[in-house]
Amino acid sequence: MADGVTGVVTLSPEEGERVRGAAAGLGDDAQFDDITRPELMEARRTGDIALVHSWELVTAVDGPGTRMTMFMSGCPLRCQYCHNPDTWEMKTGTLERVEDVVKRIKRYKPIFNASGGGLTISGGEPLFQLSFTRRVLKEVHDAGIHTTIDTAGYLGARLRDEDLDNIDLVLLDVKSGDEETYRKVTQRELQPTLDFGDRLNKMGKAVWIRFVVVPDLTDSPENVENVANIVARWKSNVERVEVLPFHNMGKDKWDNLGMNYQLADTKPPKPEDVEKIRDVFRSKGLEVY
Ligand code: SF4
Repeated sequence: MADGVTGVVTLSPEEGERVRGAAAGLGDDAQFDDITRPELMEARRTGDIALVHSWELVTAVDGPGTRMTMFMSGCPLRCQYCHNPDTWEMKTGTLERVEDVVKRIKRYKPIFNASGGGLTISGGEPLFQLSFTRRVLKEVHDAGIHTTIDTAGYLGARLRDEDLDNIDLVLLDVKSGDEETYRKVTQRELQPTLDFGDRLNKMGKAVWIRFVVVPDLTDSPENVENVANIVARWKSNVERVEVLPFHNMGKDKWDNLGMNYQLADTKPPKPEDVEKIRDVFRSKGLEVY
């Protein structure tokens, strides 16, 4: 797995060691050309600086109300249906300072207040550059803004309880319901996500679950039943389940990266099949969208 910090460093005898973002696997941002590599490493460790992939202002997705969504670079999973494979290796994005990011988010507070919205940190995986994410969540939450993370849960154990106090809502992806299918979909283990879901359940933390229906990959009746049973055991804190149909709009990104998109020939599921899967979740007493 990319640790997100190793990479090539350019050395110039006159100036000492200087980091070129792209060469160091940390995006390409000229404003940080005057920071030395050790300084940047330290800033990333403390969360002063992180690689932010992109931003979006959206309504009615990624949480309630109007959301400012900050997509972080870096992800340990390798989902076959990923829309943002360019976030995986910490190569694209902009190096941002934590205080600038917090300032930018706070400017939108009136919009968040008027719409019942807030900040969503997504990715990639928002817990990959945890020091930075942790600090943004604290400062934004302290400012009275609703906070959400959109996570696969694989790194959930990295969050301390006090970090979770700064998160109002967790959007948790459950990508499949047994180890074998989960590994096929993500190349990683399911158990950390289950452990994280159990922990959120014990704390009574508000959770929205997401499950993506991919024909011939995640849509078997057994897999759907397994996912629904997992989620049902968290019923007391799961506010809604979003069953999302796969679409292959991410294909171009895979092609541009020269990566093999295994789902190139997979069609989106039929609406009636998605509805049947929603019914499985409903039959367990869950609120489904
Ligand atoms: S967890 Fe999200 S960002 Fe990471 S590989 Fe899967 S879909 Fe892509």
